[in-house]
Amino acid sequence: MELREGSYFIQNVKALDIAEQFGTPVYVYDANKILHQLNTLKTAFADVDVKIKYAVKALSNLSILRLLKKNGSGADVVSIQEAHLALKAGFLPSEIMFSPNCADFSEIEEAVKLGLVINIDNLPFLKKFGAKYGSSYPCSIRLNPHIMAGGNIKISTGHSDSKFGISVHQLAQILDVVKQYTIKIEGLHIHTGSDITETDVFLKMADIFFSVAHSFSDLKFIDFGSGFKVSYKEGDKVMDVADLGVKLTERFNIFCKQYGRNLELWFEPGKFIVSESGHLLAKTTLIKSTPSTTFVGVNTGLNHLLRPMMYDAYHHILNISNPTGEQHVYTVVGYICETDTIGAGRKLNEVSEGDILAIKNAGAYGFSMASNYNSRLRPAEVLVINDEAKLIRERENFEDLLKGQVEIDL
Ligand SMILES: *Cc1c(COP(=O)(O)O)cnc(C)c1O
Repeated sequence: MELREGSYFIQNVKALDIAEQFGTPVYVYDANKILHQLNTLKTAFADVDVKIKYAVKALSNLSILRLLKKNGSGADVVSIQEAHLALKAGFLPSEIMFSPNCADFSEIEEAVKLGLVINIDNLPFLKKFGAKYGSSYPCSIRLNPHIMAGGNIKISTGHSDSKFGISVHQLAQILDVVKQYTIKIEGLHIHTGSDITETDVFLKMADIFFSVAHSFSDLKFIDFGSGFKVSYKEGDKVMDVADLGVKLTERFNIFCKQYGRNLELWFEPGKFIVSESGHLLAKTTLIKSTPSTTFVGVNTGLNHLLRPMMYDAYHHILNISNPTGEQHVYTVVGYICETDTIGAGRKLNEVSEGDILAIKNAGAYGFSMASNYNSRLRPAEVLVINDEAKLIRERENFEDLLKGQVEIDL
């Protein structure tokens, strides 16, 4: 979204016109930004056989999935339902990485039937997998590298107390199981969580991969997961993907020579691909001043965007109805009956009732974490593509709230 001639635009569409046409609250995604991010990553790793497996959980709208498929991405899924969505969007089974955690083993069995790439993250399931499939179906192994990445324990997944992955210290046990059942290990995987700013974390992962890889002779790929931090506010430190590309490419190519053949290098970005593409547009319902605070109430809340309350995430907010107005300090709050702060103590151009606010970085883990809490309806989703705003999900209606409820005689 950019400010031109006094109005905010997404491509050549005025953001206010989108709010007018589709109503609020509405999630709006910019296809150009999504493709720009995808290409940034591909370009940074142009000198290796890189495969991008978009993490479907970040934003799972079919049109977004199709856009990514069309532009050469694969998919990373964490539930069998996400797998079916990815298949419906046109991804080939072989392009889909299935990385469940604590899901029932029957989901893995179904994923094998579908022909997906299977990533196993615990020893009991590796044994079950081996006993059932032996050498007839390959799999990948998710390792826990014991690295605390990103600094936020809620979104870090590779530290020693994390439930994810098989500890690298259990390599001997992994190898025992692999040998016992002659399992073909085609990939090694680490995903250390979100909001990683340091190239170093990936280089540490590389060291771990490269030290264990020689124990596996059937490898086709090494999957570095994701976690690339993007900018949420001005001055934020973000992952320098170009720098990572240079450093990791160099090491990876040396490693491949030692390993004896070229492997694919995989990433599974979610946030990096879609976060900045998305805005949640909401209407100001109320301005309420107390002796200490001026609250701006909006017609959305933690039911639509959970991240501020769940992760203390900062989402920048703009008053797109009054881009040049005098700035004041406001606390923007949602309409949920629960403390529901979207942004505290924010400088915004003067806000009046009815103004449309744009909440930034809403592309990743926005709609996909939305709920019907307070029996509120989930918003519409709009994709701006080729300078046109297109509805890609209808706003829910009251019937949707009743769907599946069984009314019994009382
Ligand atoms: C959530 C997740 C991702 C995506 O993480 P981002 O921080 O959104 O890039 C990738 N891989 C796995 C296994 C995940 O669970």
